[in-house]
Amino acid sequence: MLQIAFSPVYRLRLPEGHRFPMLKYELIQEQLLYEGTCTEANFFDPDPVDDRWVAGVHTANYIRALKTGTVDAKMMRRIGFPLTPELIDREWIITQGTIDCTQIARRDGVAMNIAGGTHHAFPDRGEGFCLLNDVGVAAHYLLETGQMKKILVVDLDVHQGNGTAVMFQHEPRVFTFSMHGADNYPLKKEQSDLDINLPTGTTDEVYLNILYDILPGLIQREQPDFLFYISGVDILDSDRLGKLSISRDGCRQRDVFVFEQAIKNSLPISVSMGGGYSPRLTDIVEAHCNTFRVAADLFF
Ligand SMILES: [Zn+2]
Repeated sequence: MLQIAFSPVYRLRLPEGHRFPMLKYELIQEQLLYEGTCTEANFFDPDPVDDRWVAGVHTANYIRALKTGTVDAKMMRRIGFPLTPELIDREWIITQGTIDCTQIARRDGVAMNIAGGTHHAFPDRGEGFCLLNDVGVAAHYLLETGQMKKILVVDLDVHQGNGTAVMFQHEPRVFTFSMHGADNYPLKKEQSDLDINLPTGTTDEVYLNILYDILPGLIQREQPDFLFYISGVDILDSDRLGKLSISRDGCRQRDVFVFEQAIKNSLPISVSMGGGYSPRLTDIVEAHCNTFRVAADLFF
């Protein structure tokens, strides 16, 4: 049965203007329950991650600033939302959710986090709505505990995984692959192990053919033993920040292909959700739900 980490958002006391982007998390869970893709048994509630694992990829000063509420005003602006203690607690929970997903994926083939994919979190700072880099922490955990030798991060959120790229730039055991909009945030791109910059307006056919061309060969060449997938749905044509022209079905076909590659190569895959900023919540929720539906369908 598909296991999904869920970190409640109702406890967050966010100012009015910041509530909207948080709604999707609960709506995705509600939709999956309502339509019968999931029951309560599919969801689990992670504990906060041990600082020891966070400290493997984030600096002590940055962790202290988050925990003591002393993040400076400039960084706060770059992060983009107010840092309440509840929000910071939730980041620790989401991050453990991704670590838990790695363990479940080793057993079941796949596991998913309704949240995470916070790839703009750098070792020493957060930006772009990201505080802790959940995939970074979990990749470090897998290597440090000797469970895995080579990890491939497949980051298909429309924004470059700049924080993850910097985090692992000198770590040959983590290969960072990011396929993103050339004209999107972050304007100053970092260097992943493989970056594909897509022009504004890229359509389904072009997008999928690039992915079909690259991913199988990448897996053959790098021989990873674990996959992280960041399945952002901000590639949709309806997205406010995305600038690409991918249809909901194109987005779904992307998910199918990534999962099929994992299955074909017997690679455990842990999925973190990444972004989605369409003005209509239905567009976001439906596209994210597709990732869960496809996983439930292909693996179980
Ligand atoms: Zn994004």
